Formats: sequence, structure tokens, C-alpha cells
Amino acid sequence: MMETIQTTTIDVAVIGAGAAGLSAAAVTAAAGRSTVVIDREGMTGGILRQCIHNGFGLRYFKEELTGPEFAQRMFVKARDAGARFQLDATVTELKKLEDGKLQLQVLSAKDGVQLIEARAVVLAMGCRERNRGNIATPGTRPAGVFTAGSAQKLLNIEGRLPGTSAVIVGSGDIGLIMARRLRWSGIEVKAVVEIMPYPSGLTRNIVQCLHDFNIPLWLEHSVVRIYGKDRVEGVDVAPLVNGMPDMEKKFHIDCDTLLFSVGLIPENELAVNAGVQLNPATGGAMVDANYETNVPGIFSAGNVLHVHDLVDFVAEEAARAAAMVLKRLDGEDAAATTQPATAGANLKYVVPNSFFPGRRTVFSFRPLIVTDNGLLTATLGGKEIWRKRVPFVRPAEMLTAELDGALLTGDGELVFKLEKEASHD
Ligand SMILES: Cc1cc2nc3c(=O)[nH]c(=O)nc-3n(C[C@H](O)[C@H](O)[C@H](O)COP(=O)(O)OP(=O)(O)OC[C@H]3O[C@@H](n4cnc5c(N)ncnc54)[C@H](O)[C@@H]3O)c2cc1C
Repeated sequence: MMETIQTTTIDVAVIGAGAAGLSAAAVTAAAGRSTVVIDREGMTGGILRQCIHNGFGLRYFKEELTGPEFAQRMFVKARDAGARFQLDATVTELKKLEDGKLQLQVLSAKDGVQLIEARAVVLAMGCRERNRGNIATPGTRPAGVFTAGSAQKLLNIEGRLPGTSAVIVGSGDIGLIMARRLRWSGIEVKAVVEIMPYPSGLTRNIVQCLHDFNIPLWLEHSVVRIYGKDRVEGVDVAPLVNGMPDMEKKFHIDCDTLLFSVGLIPENELAVNAGVQLNPATGGAMVDANYETNVPGIFSAGNVLHVHDLVDFVAEEAARAAAMVLKRLDGEDAAATTQPATAGANLKYVVPNSFFPGRRTVFSFRPLIVTDNGLLTATLGGKEIWRKRVPFVRPAEMLTAELDGALLTGDGELVFKLEKEASHD
């Protein structure tokens, strides 16, 4: 006899129990909507669980917390609001049924295959790390090559040392935080190597993780070869001239560990298979002012939508998205009346990609330039409607703009652009 697969029906299914998923679930559950949060890990919290340093929550909780503390508070909020959790359970498929409901296929060792039918789905699957293969670093393939996040998990969750002397590729926040973490664990950090002419991480992390420990940062340099048969024995590093390594000036660093911190990729395979259209500039979904994707009922927030610098913004964005989920469940029409929002000069992207005329909207951006005198402007139908001075602009730091509904009344495309104010630089 064929065994039937168990099907559960719910208002809201949240995929991912990191900061984004927990924040969204707290909002929908508090409003009385049946909500389940599904995560492939055995505990909630997502990437925060392994981020044992402090620096989280200054904006959202108005105090400085460690990653696990922030995660615990978010979990309590969602649980107390009435959200249910399905952990050690991976969503392997998401699709739209003919009756408009969304169906998730969930796989777990405990329950086998289950189906969940939801009226709305929040994508909150976070990111995975780019690795050596993504940036095609030449050399042998010995042990001792890690992504920064996997080395962080090894140290902070499993309590094991990845090696004794390390070089780190990439000066993003994860790489910087790992430089300090390795040093604290007695591992020598010989260099951080960065291809850009400026650091990719937050300034506070450059100071607290490199300067305070005298760890050298090689800007506009690249690791051009990895050596070692069974275990990493060293790397060659070369300066970049017009983006190409100058091999005449390469130098060698002995080390047994190499960490790659070279960017994050939003985990959107499930979304793509469900027909969700992605934004090439973010790797996340294209979303309207409701944070709703092109597939009605599927919403997206947090790092799976675009890579955030601070978890506080992740939690806030997911709460906004969840508020829109509630409106849609209450019968508000889909985004028929939205108008497009686009990123102009010196901005990599804008999220969300549209707005509702007359409704207050928070937009997020990544700058493409470095300046201490930035001017962020918004034009609607070619006419400037808003401007803000931004004293500190770095690609590592997200920018936001909160536009009042009264400004968003005209017709046409909303275009944001960022300029350097020459007189102050
Ligand atoms: C090393 C590091 C240091 C950081 N330092 C700071 C800092 O000092 N201050 C700060 O504010 N922010 C910091 N951040 C950023 C912040 O932690 C993240 O922006 C935020 O936690 C991301 O939350 P998220 O919910 O979007 O994603 P995640 O936390 O990645 O959660 C996604 C969850 O989805 C689950 N999932 C994915 N796919 C599936 C599936 N198919 N089925 C079931 N579950 C799935 C994953 O298991 C995971 O639990 C740091 C990040 C890192 C990595």
C-alpha cells in the first residue's frame, strides 16, 4: 500500500530561522496568523549562532549584544507571539498550486517528506559563502583552505582550531572578524589580502580586528598561488596593476591555513525553481514595495534578498515584509499600482524595486564609490523630490532612504543617485 504524504495547511510559512525569518514570524504570528518557521539546522538563529563577538543589536535592541544573544531574543519574540518551529527540516521544493496556494515540500530525518500548504511564504534563507573555486585561485588543492564562515563554525561551534598560521583573502567583515578570532585563539595571522584599493569591511572592524592586533592589510593585492601537498604550506601574493597581478613583485608567505572571505551568495535556488525572478545586481529576488516577488504570495527579506551589513537592518526589513504579508492576507490587492524605483549613478542596486504612490517606503542601497561627502538624491519623473547628505560612504556600508508618502505622489520612475560633493572632499 502506498503511504500518503502528510499535508499541513497554514497561513504563513517562513523558510529560514535566522534573524530575518524570526523577525517576520514574530509579526505574522502576533497578528494571529498561523505561522511555521522551517530551518534545516537543529537550532534557530542562522548565521548569528556562530558570531560570538559583540556589535549586534545597537539599533534594534538599543544595546550591544553578541550574535547568539540577538538570536535568542528574536527566537523568544517569535515563540511568544505563537510561531511554531520545524527544525532539522529542509525545504526542498516550493511551488504555486492551481488554487493559488503555495506548496512546500519539507524533508526531515524525523518525519520524512511532508507537504505544507501556505497562503503566503517568506523567503529568509540567508546566504552561502563564495569560495576558492568562485574566484579561481591557482595552485595545489591541500587541506587547510577554508571559507571564513566554515572556519568560524569550526572554532565557535565545534571548538576546534583550523591551523596555526593563517592568511586571509578578502577584507569583508567576516574576514576581519575571523582575523581577530584566530589571533585570540593563538593562531598567527600573517596577512589580510584585498584586491580593492580600500577595505571591504566596516571601519569599526578594520580598527578593532586588524589595527588593534597589528595585522597587515595588503590592499590591491591578490593571492596568486597556493602551495602544499597534503596541507597548505604557503601562498604567493602579488600587487595588482590595472587589476592584473604584477608577478615580478610577488612575495611568499609561509602559512598552514588560508581563509577565503570573498563574498556571499543569496541562497535562492528554491525561489528560482518556484518561478521567482532574481535581480542580477543583488542575487536576491526582485521585489515590489510589499517585498513581494513576481510570484504572488511569495515574499523575501534579509540576506536572501540582498546582503546586509547589519543584522538590525535584516530584522527591520523582515518586519516590514511581514507587515505587507498581513495586508495581503487581509485581502489587499497585489502590486498592480506600483511604480518602478531604480538605482542610478554610483549605486549598485535599490531594494525594493518599486513603490506605492502615497505610501511611506524605506529603500536600501549599496554605494559603488568611496567618499566622505556624499549626496543621495531621488527624482520622480525627472524632478528632484528628496535629498540627503551622507558624510561617510563605503561599498561595505548599506545606505537607506526613508521617503514619506507625501513625496511619492507624482508619476514616473523613481531614480536614486549618489554623487560626491566635490567642494568638501
Ligand atoms: C561572520 C559574520 C559576522 C557578522 N558580524 C555582524 C556584526 O558585528 N553586526 C551585525 O549587525 N551583523 C553582523 N553580521 C551580519 C548578520 O549576522 C546577518 O546579516 C544576519 O544574521 C542574516 O540573517 P538572515 O536571517 O538573513 O540569514 P541567516 O542567518 O543566514 O539565516 C538563514 C537560515 O535559513 C536556513 N535555510 C536556508 N535554506 C534553507 C532551506 N532550504 N530549508 C530550511 N532552512 C534553510 C539556514 O539554515 C539559516 O538558518 C555578520 C555576519 C557574519 C557571517
